[in-house]
Amino acid sequence: MDKISIIVPCYNEEKVIDLFHTELSKAIAEMSTVRFELIFVDDGSKDDTLKKLKAIAEKDISARYISFSKNFGKEAAMLAGLKFADGNYVVVMDADLQHPPAIVPKMYSIIKSTGCDCVATRRVTRANEPPVRSFFAHKFYKLFNKLCGLDVVDGAMDFRMMSKRMVDAILSMPEHGRFSKGIVSWVGFNTEWIEYENVERAAGETKWSFGKLLMYAIEGFTSFSHLPLYIPALAGITLTGLTALAALITLIVGLASDLVISPFWLICLLVLFMFGVQFMILGVFGGYIAKIFVESKNRPHYIIRDTNIGI
Ligand code: UDP
Ligand code: MG
Repeated sequence: MDKISIIVPCYNEEKVIDLFHTELSKAIAEMSTVRFELIFVDDGSKDDTLKKLKAIAEKDISARYISFSKNFGKEAAMLAGLKFADGNYVVVMDADLQHPPAIVPKMYSIIKSTGCDCVATRRVTRANEPPVRSFFAHKFYKLFNKLCGLDVVDGAMDFRMMSKRMVDAILSMPEHGRFSKGIVSWVGFNTEWIEYENVERAAGETKWSFGKLLMYAIEGFTSFSHLPLYIPALAGITLTGLTALAALITLIVGLASDLVISPFWLICLLVLFMFGVQFMILGVFGGYIAKIFVESKNRPHYIIRDTNIGI
Protein backbone atom coordinates (compact mmCIF):
# COMPACT_ATOMS: atom_id res chain seq x y z
CA MET A 1 0.00 0.00 0.00
CA ASP A 2 1.36 3.44 -0.92
CA LYS A 3 1.96 5.97 1.79
CA ILE A 4 1.87 9.70 1.13
CA SER A 5 3.54 12.12 3.55
CA ILE A 6 2.11 15.62 3.39
CA ILE A 7 4.42 18.34 4.69
CA VAL A 8 2.88 21.64 5.74
CA PRO A 9 5.13 24.52 6.87
CA CYS A 10 3.19 26.80 9.22
CA TYR A 11 4.17 30.20 10.52
CA ASN A 12 1.51 32.11 12.46
CA GLU A 13 -1.34 30.25 10.80
CA GLU A 14 -3.76 29.97 13.77
CA LYS A 15 -6.56 31.57 11.74
CA VAL A 16 -6.48 29.03 8.93
CA ILE A 17 -4.93 25.81 10.22
CA ASP A 18 -8.16 24.12 11.37
CA LEU A 19 -9.91 24.94 8.12
CA PHE A 20 -6.89 23.64 6.20
CA HIS A 21 -6.95 20.36 8.12
CA THR A 22 -10.69 19.93 7.50
CA GLU A 23 -10.36 20.66 3.77
CA LEU A 24 -7.33 18.41 3.36
CA SER A 25 -8.99 15.56 5.25
CA LYS A 26 -12.04 15.86 2.97
CA ALA A 27 -9.88 15.82 -0.16
CA ILE A 28 -7.85 12.77 0.82
CA ALA A 29 -10.79 10.81 2.28
CA GLU A 30 -11.64 9.64 -1.24
CA MET A 31 -8.20 8.02 -1.58
CA SER A 32 -9.04 4.90 0.37
CA THR A 33 -6.22 2.78 -1.07
CA VAL A 34 -3.47 5.04 0.28
CA ARG A 35 -2.12 5.64 3.77
CA PHE A 36 -1.34 9.19 4.85
CA GLU A 37 0.98 10.96 7.22
CA LEU A 38 0.54 14.71 7.80
CA ILE A 39 3.66 16.48 9.00
CA PHE A 40 2.97 19.99 10.22
CA VAL A 41 6.10 22.03 10.76
CA ASP A 42 5.53 24.95 13.12
CA ASP A 43 8.23 27.39 12.10
CA GLY A 44 8.49 29.21 15.45
CA SER A 45 4.98 30.70 15.34
CA LYS A 46 4.25 33.42 17.89
CA ASP A 47 0.48 32.82 17.88
CA ASP A 48 -1.53 29.72 18.84
CA THR A 49 -0.53 27.64 15.79
CA LEU A 50 1.28 25.03 17.88
CA LYS A 51 -1.64 24.70 20.30
CA LYS A 52 -3.95 24.12 17.35
CA LEU A 53 -1.55 21.59 15.81
CA LYS A 54 -1.46 19.64 19.07
CA ALA A 55 -5.25 19.58 19.13
CA ILE A 56 -5.29 18.35 15.52
CA ALA A 57 -2.75 15.61 16.36
CA GLU A 58 -4.99 14.44 19.21
CA LYS A 59 -7.98 13.84 17.03
CA ASP A 60 -6.17 12.74 13.84
CA ILE A 61 -3.76 9.84 14.31
CA SER A 62 -2.08 10.49 10.96
CA ALA A 63 -1.07 14.01 12.04
CA ARG A 64 2.39 14.74 13.45
CA TYR A 65 3.98 18.04 14.28
CA ILE A 66 7.48 19.40 14.54
CA SER A 67 7.90 22.74 16.29
CA PHE A 68 10.99 24.92 15.79
CA SER A 69 12.58 26.90 18.63
CA LYS A 70 12.28 30.08 16.54
CA ASN A 71 11.39 31.18 13.03
CA PHE A 72 13.95 29.57 10.70
CA GLY A 73 12.08 30.27 7.45
CA LYS A 74 9.96 28.21 5.09
CA GLU A 75 12.97 26.53 3.46
CA ALA A 76 14.13 25.13 6.82
CA ALA A 77 10.58 24.02 7.61
CA MET A 78 10.28 22.16 4.30
CA LEU A 79 13.69 20.57 4.81
CA ALA A 80 12.75 19.29 8.27
CA GLY A 81 9.53 17.85 6.85
CA LEU A 82 11.39 16.08 4.03
CA LYS A 83 13.84 14.57 6.53
CA PHE A 84 11.09 13.16 8.73
CA ALA A 85 8.76 12.00 5.95
CA ASP A 86 8.73 8.27 5.42
CA GLY A 87 6.03 7.87 2.78
CA ASN A 88 6.98 6.58 -0.67
CA TYR A 89 5.45 9.79 -2.03
CA VAL A 90 5.83 13.19 -0.43
CA VAL A 91 3.71 16.31 -0.92
CA VAL A 92 4.74 19.80 0.17
CA MET A 93 1.96 22.36 0.50
CA ASP A 94 1.12 25.67 2.21
CA ALA A 95 -1.24 25.93 5.15
CA ASP A 96 -3.28 28.86 3.82
CA LEU A 97 -5.35 26.89 1.25
CA GLN A 98 -3.65 28.70 -1.64
CA HIS A 99 -2.58 25.21 -2.63
CA PRO A 100 -5.97 23.51 -3.18
CA PRO A 101 -6.10 20.13 -1.37
CA ALA A 102 -8.38 18.82 -4.14
CA ILE A 103 -5.28 18.68 -6.38
CA VAL A 104 -3.60 16.01 -4.18
CA PRO A 105 -5.69 13.07 -5.54
CA LYS A 106 -5.00 14.34 -9.10
CA MET A 107 -1.27 14.42 -8.36
CA TYR A 108 -1.36 10.85 -7.14
CA SER A 109 -3.23 9.55 -10.16
CA ILE A 110 -0.77 11.33 -12.51
CA ILE A 111 2.32 10.06 -10.67
CA LYS A 112 0.94 6.51 -10.72
CA SER A 113 -0.21 6.52 -14.34
CA THR A 114 2.87 8.20 -15.86
CA GLY A 115 5.54 6.75 -13.57
CA CYS A 116 7.12 10.22 -13.29
CA ASP A 117 8.96 11.30 -10.13
CA CYS A 118 7.30 14.65 -9.62
CA VAL A 119 3.95 16.27 -10.20
CA ALA A 120 4.31 20.00 -9.74
CA THR A 121 1.85 22.87 -9.89
CA ARG A 122 2.04 26.09 -11.77
CA ARG A 123 -0.35 28.97 -11.38
CA VAL A 124 -1.34 30.46 -14.66
CA THR A 125 -2.72 33.71 -13.25
CA ARG A 126 -1.23 36.04 -10.74
CA ALA A 127 -4.56 37.72 -9.97
CA ASN A 128 -4.75 39.36 -6.54
CA GLU A 129 -1.00 39.88 -6.54
CA PRO A 130 0.48 43.40 -6.59
CA PRO A 131 1.58 44.15 -10.22
CA VAL A 132 5.12 45.15 -9.10
CA ARG A 133 5.55 41.74 -7.47
CA SER A 134 4.41 39.94 -10.65
CA PHE A 135 6.69 42.12 -12.81
CA PHE A 136 9.78 41.37 -10.73
CA ALA A 137 8.86 37.67 -10.46
CA HIS A 138 8.71 37.34 -14.30
CA LYS A 139 12.04 39.14 -14.73
CA PHE A 140 13.60 37.09 -11.95
CA TYR A 141 12.79 33.72 -13.55
CA LYS A 142 14.12 34.82 -16.95
CA LEU A 143 17.41 36.10 -15.53
CA PHE A 144 17.77 33.21 -13.08
CA ASN A 145 17.45 30.56 -15.81
CA LYS A 146 19.89 32.40 -18.07
CA LEU A 147 22.53 32.92 -15.39
CA CYS A 148 22.19 29.61 -13.62
CA GLY A 149 21.66 27.29 -16.60
CA LEU A 150 18.53 25.83 -14.98
CA ASP A 151 14.96 25.60 -16.16
CA VAL A 152 12.81 26.99 -13.35
CA VAL A 153 9.27 27.35 -14.67
CA ASP A 154 7.70 30.78 -14.23
CA GLY A 155 4.76 30.51 -11.84
CA ALA A 156 5.90 27.13 -10.44
CA MET A 157 4.73 26.72 -6.85
CA ASP A 158 6.28 24.82 -3.96
CA PHE A 159 3.14 22.64 -4.08
CA ARG A 160 4.35 19.32 -5.52
CA MET A 161 4.25 15.56 -5.07
CA MET A 162 7.57 13.75 -5.31
CA SER A 163 8.72 10.16 -5.27
CA LYS A 164 10.92 9.03 -2.38
CA ARG A 165 13.95 8.81 -4.68
CA MET A 166 13.53 12.46 -5.69
CA VAL A 167 13.21 13.45 -2.02
CA ASP A 168 16.40 11.50 -1.25
CA ALA A 169 18.15 13.36 -4.07
CA ILE A 170 17.02 16.70 -2.60
CA LEU A 171 18.26 15.62 0.84
CA SER A 172 21.62 14.67 -0.67
CA MET A 173 22.21 18.37 -1.26
CA PRO A 174 23.59 19.50 2.11
CA GLU A 175 23.87 23.23 1.37
CA HIS A 176 22.71 25.72 3.96
CA GLY A 177 21.43 28.49 1.70
CA ARG A 178 18.48 26.58 0.29
CA PHE A 179 16.50 27.77 -2.70
CA SER A 180 13.96 25.01 -3.33
CA LYS A 181 12.91 26.08 -6.81
CA GLY A 182 16.53 25.81 -7.93
CA ILE A 183 17.15 22.57 -6.01
CA VAL A 184 14.20 20.67 -7.51
CA SER A 185 15.29 21.78 -10.97
CA TRP A 186 18.94 20.86 -10.31
CA VAL A 187 18.21 17.28 -9.18
CA GLY A 188 16.41 16.59 -12.46
CA PHE A 189 13.77 13.80 -12.76
CA ASN A 190 10.68 13.87 -14.97
CA THR A 191 8.08 16.38 -13.89
CA GLU A 192 4.43 16.55 -14.94
CA TRP A 193 2.63 19.87 -14.51
CA ILE A 194 -0.81 20.76 -13.24
CA GLU A 195 -1.95 24.31 -13.98
CA TYR A 196 -4.40 26.18 -11.81
CA GLU A 197 -5.77 29.65 -11.21
CA ASN A 198 -4.32 31.63 -8.34
CA VAL A 199 -6.35 31.30 -5.15
CA GLU A 200 -6.44 33.88 -2.39
CA ARG A 201 -5.33 33.05 1.12
CA ALA A 202 -8.30 31.67 3.15
CA ALA A 203 -7.37 33.71 6.25
CA GLY A 204 -4.41 35.45 7.86
CA GLU A 205 -1.82 37.33 5.86
CA THR A 206 1.24 36.63 3.74
CA LYS A 207 4.57 36.31 5.57
CA TRP A 208 6.53 37.51 2.54
CA SER A 209 7.25 41.21 2.33
CA PHE A 210 8.85 42.61 -0.82
CA GLY A 211 12.18 42.86 1.04
CA LYS A 212 12.01 39.21 2.15
CA LEU A 213 11.27 38.13 -1.42
CA LEU A 214 14.18 40.18 -2.73
CA MET A 215 16.54 38.52 -0.23
CA TYR A 216 15.17 35.12 -1.30
CA ALA A 217 15.81 36.00 -4.96
CA ILE A 218 19.40 36.99 -4.09
CA GLU A 219 19.76 33.68 -2.24
CA GLY A 220 18.64 31.94 -5.43
CA PHE A 221 21.21 33.70 -7.61
CA THR A 222 24.10 33.33 -5.23
CA SER A 223 23.32 29.64 -4.57
CA PHE A 224 23.20 28.63 -8.20
CA SER A 225 25.45 30.94 -10.16
CA HIS A 226 29.12 31.69 -9.73
CA LEU A 227 29.30 33.59 -13.02
CA PRO A 228 29.39 37.03 -11.28
CA LEU A 229 32.74 36.02 -9.77
CA TYR A 230 34.19 36.06 -13.29
CA ILE A 231 33.07 39.64 -14.00
CA PRO A 232 36.38 41.21 -12.77
CA ALA A 233 38.37 38.84 -15.02
CA LEU A 234 36.27 39.79 -18.04
CA ALA A 235 36.47 43.50 -17.20
CA GLY A 236 40.23 43.23 -16.66
CA ILE A 237 40.92 41.43 -19.94
CA THR A 238 38.69 43.85 -21.89
CA LEU A 239 40.16 46.98 -20.30
CA THR A 240 43.79 45.84 -20.63
CA GLY A 241 43.21 44.76 -24.23
CA LEU A 242 41.55 48.04 -25.24
CA THR A 243 44.24 50.09 -23.49
CA ALA A 244 47.00 48.12 -25.19
CA LEU A 245 45.29 48.74 -28.54
CA ALA A 246 44.95 52.46 -27.81
CA ALA A 247 48.65 52.57 -26.82
CA LEU A 248 49.63 50.86 -30.08
CA ILE A 249 47.56 53.30 -32.15
CA THR A 250 49.10 56.21 -30.21
CA LEU A 251 52.60 54.87 -30.91
CA ILE A 252 51.90 54.48 -34.66
CA VAL A 253 50.33 57.93 -34.90
CA GLY A 254 53.27 59.40 -32.89
CA LEU A 255 55.87 57.82 -35.19
CA ALA A 256 54.08 58.33 -38.51
CA SER A 257 52.98 61.92 -38.08
CA ASP A 258 54.34 65.03 -36.45
CA LEU A 259 51.37 65.26 -34.05
CA VAL A 260 52.46 65.92 -30.46
CA ILE A 261 51.04 63.30 -28.08
CA SER A 262 49.59 64.96 -25.01
CA PRO A 263 51.24 63.79 -21.74
CA PHE A 264 47.73 63.81 -20.22
CA TRP A 265 46.66 61.13 -22.76
CA LEU A 266 49.72 59.04 -21.89
CA ILE A 267 48.89 59.25 -18.17
CA CYS A 268 45.29 58.24 -18.96
CA LEU A 269 46.55 55.18 -20.86
CA LEU A 270 48.83 54.24 -18.00
CA VAL A 271 46.05 54.59 -15.41
CA LEU A 272 43.59 52.55 -17.52
CA PHE A 273 46.23 49.88 -18.07
CA MET A 274 46.91 49.66 -14.31
CA PHE A 275 43.16 49.37 -13.63
CA GLY A 276 42.94 46.59 -16.19
CA VAL A 277 45.80 44.70 -14.55
CA GLN A 278 44.18 45.11 -11.13
CA PHE A 279 40.88 43.77 -12.42
CA MET A 280 42.68 40.78 -13.91
CA ILE A 281 44.31 40.05 -10.54
CA LEU A 282 40.85 40.32 -8.92
CA GLY A 283 39.64 37.92 -11.62
CA VAL A 284 42.24 35.37 -10.52
CA PHE A 285 40.89 35.63 -6.97
CA GLY A 286 37.35 35.37 -8.36
CA GLY A 287 38.28 32.16 -10.16
CA TYR A 288 39.58 30.55 -6.98
CA ILE A 289 36.64 31.80 -4.90
CA ALA A 290 34.30 30.28 -7.51
CA LYS A 291 36.11 26.96 -6.99
CA ILE A 292 35.77 27.21 -3.19
CA PHE A 293 32.10 28.15 -3.65
CA VAL A 294 31.36 25.10 -5.79
CA GLU A 295 33.36 22.69 -3.60
CA SER A 296 31.94 24.01 -0.32
CA LYS A 297 28.39 23.17 -1.43
CA ASN A 298 29.41 19.53 -1.42
CA ARG A 299 26.68 18.65 -3.88
CA PRO A 300 26.50 15.09 -5.22
CA HIS A 301 28.46 14.53 -8.45
CA TYR A 302 25.49 12.75 -10.00
CA ILE A 303 22.06 11.43 -9.11
CA ILE A 304 21.01 7.93 -10.17
CA ARG A 305 17.39 7.45 -11.09
CA ASP A 306 17.44 3.75 -11.85
CA THR A 307 19.92 0.84 -12.00
CA ASN A 308 19.96 -2.96 -11.92
CA ILE A 309 23.29 -3.10 -10.10
CA GLY A 310 22.98 -4.69 -6.66
CA ILE A 311 19.47 -6.04 -7.30
N1 UDP B 1 5.93 29.97 6.15
C1 UDP B 1 6.83 29.39 7.04
N2 UDP B 1 7.85 30.16 7.53
C2 UDP B 1 8.03 31.47 7.17
C3 UDP B 1 7.13 32.04 6.24
C4 UDP B 1 6.10 31.25 5.75
O1 UDP B 1 6.71 28.22 7.38
O2 UDP B 1 8.97 32.11 7.67
C5 UDP B 1 4.83 29.15 5.62
C6 UDP B 1 3.44 29.76 5.80
O3 UDP B 1 2.88 29.45 7.05
C7 UDP B 1 2.66 29.15 4.64
C8 UDP B 1 3.73 29.02 3.56
O4 UDP B 1 5.00 29.05 4.23
O5 UDP B 1 2.15 27.87 4.95
C9 UDP B 1 3.67 30.12 2.52
O6 UDP B 1 3.69 31.39 3.17
P1 UDP B 1 2.78 32.59 2.71
O7 UDP B 1 1.38 32.12 2.45
O8 UDP B 1 2.95 33.68 3.71
O9 UDP B 1 3.48 33.01 1.35
P2 UDP B 1 2.79 33.50 -0.02
O10 UDP B 1 1.74 32.48 -0.35
O11 UDP B 1 2.22 34.84 0.27
O12 UDP B 1 3.92 33.52 -1.01
MG1 MG C 1 0.24 31.90 0.82
